[in-house]
Amino acid sequence: METGKPKKPRLLFNISTAIIIFFALTLGYSLLTENQAPANQISLSELVTDINAGKVSALSINGDAVEVTYTGETPEVKAVRKEDSVSILDSLKNLGVDSKKLSAIGVTVKTPSGFSFWFFNLAPFILPLVFILVFIWFLSRQVRGAGMQAFSFGQSKARMIAPDDKRQRVTFKDVAGVKEAKEELSEVVDFLKNPRKFFEIGARIPKGMLLMGAPGTGKTLLARAVAGEAGVAFFSISGSEFVEMFVGVGASRVRDLFKLAKHTAPAIIFIDEIDAVGRVRGTGVGGGNDEREQTLNQILVEMDGFEPTEKVIVMAATNRPDVLDPALLRPGRFDRRVILDLPDRNDREEILKLHSRKKPFAEDVNLRVIAERTPGFSGADLYSLMNEGAILAARENRTKVSQYDLIRAIEKVMLGPERKSHLLSVKEKEITAYHEAGHALVASVLPFADPVHKISIISRGRAGGYTLKLPLEDRRLQSRREFLDDISVSLAGFVAEQMMFNDVTTGPSNDLQVASALTRDMVTKYGMSEKLGPIAYEASAGVLYGKPFAEREYSERISAEIDSEVSHIVEGALKKATDVLTKHKKALQAIAGRLIEVETIERDDFEKLLIANGIVPKRKAEIEHKV
Ligand code: ADP
Ligand code: MG
Ligand code: ZN
Repeated sequence: METGKPKKPRLLFNISTAIIIFFALTLGYSLLTENQAPANQISLSELVTDINAGKVSALSINGDAVEVTYTGETPEVKAVRKEDSVSILDSLKNLGVDSKKLSAIGVTVKTPSGFSFWFFNLAPFILPLVFILVFIWFLSRQVRGAGMQAFSFGQSKARMIAPDDKRQRVTFKDVAGVKEAKEELSEVVDFLKNPRKFFEIGARIPKGMLLMGAPGTGKTLLARAVAGEAGVAFFSISGSEFVEMFVGVGASRVRDLFKLAKHTAPAIIFIDEIDAVGRVRGTGVGGGNDEREQTLNQILVEMDGFEPTEKVIVMAATNRPDVLDPALLRPGRFDRRVILDLPDRNDREEILKLHSRKKPFAEDVNLRVIAERTPGFSGADLYSLMNEGAILAARENRTKVSQYDLIRAIEKVMLGPERKSHLLSVKEKEITAYHEAGHALVASVLPFADPVHKISIISRGRAGGYTLKLPLEDRRLQSRREFLDDISVSLAGFVAEQMMFNDVTTGPSNDLQVASALTRDMVTKYGMSEKLGPIAYEASAGVLYGKPFAEREYSERISAEIDSEVSHIVEGALKKATDVLTKHKKALQAIAGRLIEVETIERDDFEKLLIANGIVPKRKAEIEHKV
C-alpha cells in the first residue's frame, strides 16, 4: 500500500544524496591521511647520508612514519616514510648506513594509538562498505514507499488518504456546482459521521454509489470530498490498475483492498474508471478478458459479503455507464446512481471563482463573461482555462491576470495552441478564408444556428481555421430545426469552396463527418425523420445498460431507408447553404477579403460587415422570439 503520491523524484534525490555523501567521506578521509605527511619529508637515502655525516641525534618510529631529530642548537625534525612491513633498521642497513653511527643514535619505537591505528588501517575497507550499506538502506526505503511490483505482488495498490491528512483533504467547499449530486451524497456523509442513528432505526444504507458523468465533471474530486466531509479514510484505486499482467492479481488486490478498508472502517473505497473492469461480461468484446471477469466477480462477492453494520461505502466512477455489467447495478451493489452534469453558466462561474483563488486579477476581469463564453466546458476544462490564463500573463511578465488572458485561454483550451508558424500559401489562405466565411455567413443568416463570435484563419491544433459560434443561452434540448441549420452550417465551408473555386479540397472532410453523423443521429436516434417516424433504431449511449454490442435491430429494408433518408436530409441542408451563399455572395466576398487581410475577425467587426451587407445580426431577444 502506498500513501500519498508516487515518489519517483525522491529516488533520484536519494541516489544523488548518497553519491554526495560518498564523495564527502572520501574527501575527508584523504584530507586526514594527507595531514600525516608533513611538508619537510626526506627520502630514506638522504637519511642514510645524514646519519653517516653524524647530523642525526634521534629516530622515533611510529608505524610507517619515522621522525628524524637533527643535532644542532635548534633541533630540526624531519619525517621519513619507510616501506611497509620492513624494519627501518634493515632498510637503513641495505642502503649502507654506518652501523657505528647508527648505534650511537637513540631509537624509540612508539606503537600508534589504538584508535588511529585501526582507523587508518581499516578505513579503506570499511568506508566503502558503510557507503554500500547506507545506499541499500536508502533503496529499500524507496522500495517500500513505491510499493514496487515485485514485492507487493497481489497486495492492493490503493492509495489511501488518512482522515487527519490536512494537506490532501478536500471538502464539498472545493467542489462548485453539482448541487443535486452533493445533496445525494450528503446522506452518505451523514451516515459515515453518525452510523448509530441509522442502525437504530433499522435503515439500510446503500453500499455502493455510482458517480456518472462526462470526463472532467469532478467525479474523483467529489468522491474525495465525501471522505473529507465525513472525516473518514479514503482508499482509491483505478479500474485499470486491477487489470495487469498476471491473472488472479486483480482479484487478490480487490480482496486486500476490502480487508484493509474494513480494518480501518469507517472508510470509503473509491474505484475510479470502473468501466475498465466492469464491462458487460461474456461478450467477447475486448478479448474476453478472464482477468477482468475475475476481478469484477471479486468486487461483487466482497460487496455482497458486507455485514449490514459495516461502515464501509464503495463509490465508483465512470463516464461510460452504458457499457457496465448489469450485475454491478443490481440492488445491494451500485444501486445508487449520482449523475454529474456538465456545469451550466452559473456553475461555471462558481467553478471559475473557486479556481481563481490565489490568482491575482486585474480589475477588468469579469468571470461572468468567461462563464458565458464557455458552454460545454467541464470543471477540468475550466480549471485548465484558469491555469492557461495565468501562464499567458506570466509569460508576458505581468503580475496580474487580465480578462484578455482568460479569453485567449478559452480558445487555447478549446482548440489547442495557435500555430503561427504554419504558413499557408496565398492560394491556401484564400481557400481557407472563403471556407470559414461560408460557415460564418450561413450561421448568421439561418435563424436557428448559433451566432458567430469569432472567425480566424490562423490554424490551431488540427483545425486549419475556425469559426467560433456561441449559443445565446445554455441549452439542454436541441430541436429538429436547430439540427437542420447546424448541418447546413457544417456544409457551408464545402459549398463556399465549391462555389468560389469550382473545386473542393480535403479541408472540409471533418465538416462532412460532423454533418453526416448529426444527420444519422437525427434519423436513427431522435425520430426526427418524417419518413421513418419516431422510432429509435440505435440506442443512444446511456439508455440501454449492458447491451453487449451494437447489434443492428432492424431489417435490410430499414437500413436502406435510413441511408436514403440521410442523403435526403443532407441534400436539403446543402441546398439551403447554397441558397444563402448565392444570395449573399457579396457578403461572402467581403468577409473572406477581410479575413485574408487581418486573419481574425471578432464579433463586433463581423457584425459591422454583416450590417454593411444588409444582414441583421442575431441578438438575444430576437432568438427568444423566434424559438
Ligand atoms: P473526473 O474524475 O470526473 O474526470 P476530476 O474529478 O478528476 O474529474 O476533475 C478534474 C479537475 O477538474 C479537478 O481536480 C478540479 O480541479 C476540476 N473540477 C472538476 N469539476 C469541478 C467542480 N465541480 N468544482 C471545482 N473543480 C472542479
Ligand atoms: Mg476521474
Ligand atoms: Zn469547416
